[in-house]
Amino acid sequence: MSFALQRRILLITLSSIASLYLASDFKACQAQESVIEKPSEDTRAATPTAEAEPSTSNPVVGEKESAIDSTKPSDIRMATGRVFIDANNDGKFGIGDQPFVNVRVSNGKEIVHTDPSGKWQLPLEDDAIFFLIKPSGYQSKLSENNLPQFYYIHKPNGSPQLRFPGSKPTGAIPESIDFPLYPSDEPENFQMLLFGDPQPRNNQEVDYISHDVIAQLIGDTSSKFGVTLGDIAFDNLDTFEPLNQAIALIGIPWHNVIGNHDINLDAGSRKHINETFEATYGPTYYSFDYGQVHFVVLDNIDWKVEGDKKSYLPNFGARQREFLKNDLDMIPESQMVVLLMHVPFLDCEDHQEIFRLIEDRPFCVSVSAHRHVHTHHFFGEKEGWKGDKEHHHVVNVTVSGSWWSGARNDRGVPHSTMGDGAPNGYSIMSFADGRYMLDFRGAGIPADEQMLIQLPDEVAAADGSERVF
Ligand SMILES: [Zn+2]
Repeated sequence: MSFALQRRILLITLSSIASLYLASDFKACQAQESVIEKPSEDTRAATPTAEAEPSTSNPVVGEKESAIDSTKPSDIRMATGRVFIDANNDGKFGIGDQPFVNVRVSNGKEIVHTDPSGKWQLPLEDDAIFFLIKPSGYQSKLSENNLPQFYYIHKPNGSPQLRFPGSKPTGAIPESIDFPLYPSDEPENFQMLLFGDPQPRNNQEVDYISHDVIAQLIGDTSSKFGVTLGDIAFDNLDTFEPLNQAIALIGIPWHNVIGNHDINLDAGSRKHINETFEATYGPTYYSFDYGQVHFVVLDNIDWKVEGDKKSYLPNFGARQREFLKNDLDMIPESQMVVLLMHVPFLDCEDHQEIFRLIEDRPFCVSVSAHRHVHTHHFFGEKEGWKGDKEHHHVVNVTVSGSWWSGARNDRGVPHSTMGDGAPNGYSIMSFADGRYMLDFRGAGIPADEQMLIQLPDEVAAADGSERVF
């Protein structure tokens, strides 16, 4: 074994330890600091009412804004709809179904609450996506690939002609855009899966993902849902569908964050870079509640055009910041907020503006991926963070590791060890007894193997003058 090779092994081993040590240190730290308190009064997910029409006596309305506002100027076009509990499971509002009061619905900017008859109304623009903000204890219908169907795409003329297809023409806005909800048993203590960058170039690499990571999770519903943190694909958006099918085998609802390799690179304008993603997964940013935790899926991939050259720029943008502000204004400070994004926070041009929206919240953590390493960051004064407590940002391990490179392992899959020496894999984030924890899982490695320490046969002594065996 050459000295260079020994040095490399030692380096890899030490960086793996460093990565895992940070994870366990974080656990100890969070055990003391992160306490989720139950909101004193949950005014968001109201008990559904059986009334079919608005009640004239003492109606229950949202604390921010009633959905129906007759003072709006008549020249603003409005979309309307209803949220309801779909008792007969047919997806349509009908006899026996209950209107859902006080659920939040958004157009990507404004957020309104449904009125006592479950109705909402929002300004309408062409090429809009309307979505509901899933309340705790309920879930939307799932697609056959377990993707939540919580949105309606309004694209009257459909997507432009692109290499990878987008939405078909949707025509005129429906008279009522209705969102069914279904009761779901959501425990206060739960865990979820976090997949960074699966990033398959082709179907062979989708197979790597299936064998290396998904196989060990199939049928394991101890995690209540999962999130892919962007770079679902590697520019070839034809892999969306086979990867969705593979992940669906796990058997739990799955959310998706957009990454820089999930965009339509041949789009002629900024407006159309997300056509295929949206047609497949829905809005690129939104939020939802699960149990006592509020999750916000964010889109920090912007489009930069310099002459003929197009590239992405990590940035959230004004419209999304406005949505986030409106969204967080409705979440009690005592509620845990988890921000999910693709590009690490500090790389985003407008990260300071997002800091201003979250730094007063005592319980907020954020997770990204994109770097193909696994690291923990704690933002303080040096990073321009003005909150009393540091902000914890996790750059999550990636499913693809180092982009499926290296010699094949005994499962026929490239070892794909990441640049920091940690194996490729995924994380489990759990929320229990007022704390959150993050567990690193190496692909194909049993849960009880969280650390691997290897000592080379020989190492150099500290002063380099003698060899120690
Ligand atoms: Zn990326």
